[in-house]
Amino acid sequence: MEGRIEKLGPPRSPPPERGVASGLACDLVGLSREELGDFFAGLGESPYRAKQLWHWIYHRGVRKFSEMTTFNKKLQGLLSESCRVTRPEIRRLQESADGTRKWLLAFSDGNEAEIVHIPEVDRGTLCISSQVGCTLTCQFCHTGTQKLVRNLTPGEIVGQMLIARDHFNEWPSPKERRHISNVVFMGMGEPLYNYENVAQAIRILMDGEGIALSKRRITLSTTGVVPMIQRAGNELDVQLAISLHATTDALRDKLVPLNRKYPLAELIKACRTYPRAANSRRITFEYVMLKGINDSITDAKQLVKLIQGIPAKVNLIPFNTWPGAPYECSMPETISAFADVVNEAGYASPVRIPRGQDILAACGQLKSASERRARIPAKTTVKGN
Ligand code: SAH
Repeated sequence: MEGRIEKLGPPRSPPPERGVASGLACDLVGLSREELGDFFAGLGESPYRAKQLWHWIYHRGVRKFSEMTTFNKKLQGLLSESCRVTRPEIRRLQESADGTRKWLLAFSDGNEAEIVHIPEVDRGTLCISSQVGCTLTCQFCHTGTQKLVRNLTPGEIVGQMLIARDHFNEWPSPKERRHISNVVFMGMGEPLYNYENVAQAIRILMDGEGIALSKRRITLSTTGVVPMIQRAGNELDVQLAISLHATTDALRDKLVPLNRKYPLAELIKACRTYPRAANSRRITFEYVMLKGINDSITDAKQLVKLIQGIPAKVNLIPFNTWPGAPYECSMPETISAFADVVNEAGYASPVRIPRGQDILAACGQLKSASERRARIPAKTTVKGN
């Protein structure tokens, strides 16, 4: 473990360049409004075209330029020759007995990531990925055992939403009663290690003339990349979830090795200063329940003390096992005693009902076969720890 800690950090090679990573001359999905404006200017067209294109891609879900009827035939032809509007490829779609769906997606370089849709009575949550694999090696997480890691581009992140929207035929963007009403960055990867691309994708998801997701319906979940928490708060102001899982540095160092770089005191301080005026903007602390490891009443009391004064809720996640996992899930009565302590201290402490376990779609179970692929361009590849 000691030797590994030095290696922890964001993938070191730069994220693949847009368009280059996708192997296409130019993929318009994932470009910012400014980039699209520049693109049309380069074609000698008015910047207004960018606004029109945005509407077709993100409000109507249209992929073919020939269907973009506000463009004349000449422009449609020019666009077809010079660029594309793409989606990741769907390699597999599985549906759980409880209605949860999991897609295995492949990007144009062959790397894969998984996304999950969780339907609930009053909402539908899409859990998306920010990286192929993850560098963080949290001891209880399946994704952390995957060797290959690379950052996803803004287009690849937004593309996950487009795939799910296509599936539910949720075009044009409905105002309400959406199948995908919420997006959480709780799939594969550490979103704050891919901040720029995630931020660009979030801005696209939030744009009112397209997918139009409210910032209250987007949750960034982080293991605790402290300097980036501040930045995300200032620049994006979306909902924040912290994967806490332990209340002492000794235990958290082990379960979540990133803690050695950003210990609990710093993490909690960053949470205290995260923009959050109202109770509706509470920070979510995620806490995986591991039998005999972090699930005692003492742990619960320490947790309450640690987050004292932060408007928060605590999501207790029964550990979801995976092949070869070194932990077991706490007993139901242990979880409910733990929840009682947290609840009595004034924090909502819902116990997450695992969803999609039969298809390995629950928290921490995602893992793709990317590590088994032999040839990944070195430029886009970073070894896990
Ligand atoms: N890297 C980010 C995003 C991953 S989110 C983060 O750590 O927040 C996935 C959530 O599921 C995290 O809270 C993670 O700690 C939790 N998790 C990972 N493996 C798990 C498992 N086997 N059972 C339950 N929860 C798990």
